[in-house]
Amino acid sequence: MENMLSNRIKAMSESATLAMAAKAREFKAKGIDVISLSLGEPDFKTPKHIQEAAKAAIDEGKYFAYPPVNGYPDLREAIAAKLKRENGLDFGPNNIVVSTGAKQSIANIMMALLNPGDEVVVFSPYWVSYAELIKLGEGIPVYVDGTIENGFKVTAEQFEAAITDKTKLVIYSSPSNPTGAVFNAEETEAIAAVLRKHPNIIAISDEIYEYINFGDKHVSLGALEGMNDRVITVNGYSKGFAMTGWRIGYIAAPEWIAKACNKIQGQITSGANSIAQRAALAAITTDLGPTREMAEAYRGRRQLVLDLLNEIPGVKTYMPNGAFYIFPDVSAYFGTQFGDTEIKDAGDLCMYILNEAHVSLVTGQAFGAPNCVRISYAASDDDLKEAMARIKRVLAQLEPATVA
Ligand code: PMP
Ligand code: GLU
Repeated sequence: MENMLSNRIKAMSESATLAMAAKAREFKAKGIDVISLSLGEPDFKTPKHIQEAAKAAIDEGKYFAYPPVNGYPDLREAIAAKLKRENGLDFGPNNIVVSTGAKQSIANIMMALLNPGDEVVVFSPYWVSYAELIKLGEGIPVYVDGTIENGFKVTAEQFEAAITDKTKLVIYSSPSNPTGAVFNAEETEAIAAVLRKHPNIIAISDEIYEYINFGDKHVSLGALEGMNDRVITVNGYSKGFAMTGWRIGYIAAPEWIAKACNKIQGQITSGANSIAQRAALAAITTDLGPTREMAEAYRGRRQLVLDLLNEIPGVKTYMPNGAFYIFPDVSAYFGTQFGDTEIKDAGDLCMYILNEAHVSLVTGQAFGAPNCVRISYAASDDDLKEAMARIKRVLAQLEPATVA
């Protein structure tokens, strides 16, 4: 019977981040003490004032019916005001579509804009779901690879070289998942300059890690000259406000795109959860203090993990400037073995580390970078220290020990 599944689903890979998180949970259910560094999820609780706003919304008794498909008007007003104030983007509430997480926002865009065969330039390493959502929209991902030497940042020249007459979209995130790379003002301007030369391409700028930035000031591509009508800004609450489970994300886009996303969402899911939208309104209109404190904690952990990784032979690192990921090159261990377990690639290495060290990571293959593994350092200092010690120990068992 399984053959009856659609070609669409047969061609789709499972989300590697969620799959690895599920595996870590299975180990934990068996009583094994797994340290989970696989899921890109803050380990903090949603700030108290946001929790209180959700409780108050329930008590008010006004938010039990279907919300408008594109989100409550006051939330969209507040998002437009935030984008003006913090990002220099010029949008009104009709340009905003609130969705059940930024993941749905990106799915909406792909379904709304792509025709079969349209090409989407993807800055790689890229977040796992971009590729599958492009394929769901029957588009063709065209990957452009950043290198570890360049902190994994794709250059404007590389981007331009990937453009063909079939290119419809380009997608990238800054700060980036999985690398933590942050495009500075000059680099973002260089991307805008390429777009100015190619007026028929629309850009998707995924800014969900905006508040977790340790280096250069965040720059929104859409705020640069000539970009307002060309750039879809994606953002959400999961990361900056530790609200992954609440499932609220949004786009800011030219009205014709916002309308199309509204239409597709109206057929698939309708408006996002009403109480979560009220919580999101509190998040965006009140104190960013807790957000900044969480970002400071991530900054400390970045250094901690980097220092510990740098003590492990054969692990090649770089300095990530944002998000809560580091994406080291571990290819020096390919071709080694422990007993009967051979390490052919990053997937094997992740399984080996999970089985032997009880630490879950995600293979770089899932992000288009097969020499790397992704470590999410959204975990406590104690867990991070213990995890790095375990990884160091099990890597040292691999033979031949030629890794320098
Ligand atoms: N974009 C990036 C780069 C992400 O890492 C995530 C994490 N899930 C998302 C979008 C989607 O976030 P959410 O659906 O939780 O809003
Ligand atoms: N974005 C997070 C990650 O990359 C959450 C999991 C997911 O939605 O893919 O791990």
